[in-house]
Amino acid sequence: MAQIRLENLRKEYGREEIVAVDDLSLDIEDGEFVTVVGPSGCGKTTTLRMIAGLEQPTDGSVYIGDEDVTDVHAKNRDIAMVFQNYALYPHKTVYENMAFGLRMSTDLSESERRTRVEETAEMMDIDHLLEDTPDELSGGQKQRVALGRAIVREPDAFLFDEPLSNLDAKLRTSMRTEIQRIQNELDVTSVYVTHDQEEAMTMGDRIVILNNGELQQVGEPTEVYDNPVNEFVAGFIGSPSMNFFDVDVTTRGDRIVLGDPDSGFEFELSSEYVTDHADELEANQYTLGIRPENVNVVESAAEGVVKGTVEVVEPIGSDNYLYMDLAEDFIARVDSSIEPDVGERVALTFDESDIHLFEPETGIDVF
Ligand code: ATP
Repeated sequence: MAQIRLENLRKEYGREEIVAVDDLSLDIEDGEFVTVVGPSGCGKTTTLRMIAGLEQPTDGSVYIGDEDVTDVHAKNRDIAMVFQNYALYPHKTVYENMAFGLRMSTDLSESERRTRVEETAEMMDIDHLLEDTPDELSGGQKQRVALGRAIVREPDAFLFDEPLSNLDAKLRTSMRTEIQRIQNELDVTSVYVTHDQEEAMTMGDRIVILNNGELQQVGEPTEVYDNPVNEFVAGFIGSPSMNFFDVDVTTRGDRIVLGDPDSGFEFELSSEYVTDHADELEANQYTLGIRPENVNVVESAAEGVVKGTVEVVEPIGSDNYLYMDLAEDFIARVDSSIEPDVGERVALTFDESDIHLFEPETGIDVF
């Protein structure tokens, strides 16, 4: 079993000035593919390096299977890491690059090694490159070799540190699928670090979101998309980002209205909604979040909850992005048949079930 467990992991650099990872606890199941995502400097690589044994935690523990490996040297952890820069030996052939780690870590005979390298090379579609050196390969081929070198060792776990960042967009997409296919086939526990939320969402069984060294949320991609725990996660997951604006809560008899006097926004909550969330609606100001894809343009102003001026219309094929003056970077993602003119006033609406309300102080998603 190669589940990975992180217990209250902490990493400080340089006399406590930088806390790269702060009290991180996480359980990764055997065979699971977990993606770790967050903005630059949030502690992704440091976390991965602590799992690999390349960085010693300041505090906390790393378990692989049932073993506490916190003090076990990297070379004695049965883990293979794949890096963004491939980290191939430039003067060794592809065959030697792949066989090298195998020689270091197993007691196979020469012919057994050869068979294993050849089988893996075939699986990675690099069997025709075995006698080449890295400088004769394209970026995509180099990354296949780096993956092949990780796979051939049959490790307990794979750790990926932004392995596709140096590849062009098309190759990146096809390599994503390839990595997922291999991981599925081999069923090896994998931790995959990326700053690209789309990559994290499409590849992970579960996705771990970090910010400032702290765990924000861990869950299946749809779960973090639909139920972000706070404003940070809500804004980070999803592209384009969720729209945010501040609203006041006004009680008018038994009706509750969310409004923003500046934009003229008014949204009356249904009585069911009020009943369901009465206890949570304590404050009188919230940050309202609505995803661009949940904003609809309506014909008549009476149906709309707010009117805004279109600043830019950006066609993306099937849909149009309408940049509106309602809040900073407010975007409505609408069908491409909806093509208002720049400067036109349009009425917008959205479903109550799609709105999120965040506490302005803490950013916590109230509902
Ligand atoms: P990126 O996406 O930019 O690679 P990251 O999320 O992987 O970022 P880390 O590389 O883990 O983030 O860095 C986390 C924090 O720790 C950052 O503030 C970084 O500057 C700091 N840091 C990382 N390595 C060191 C080091 N060796 N010495 C000092 N500070 C470090």
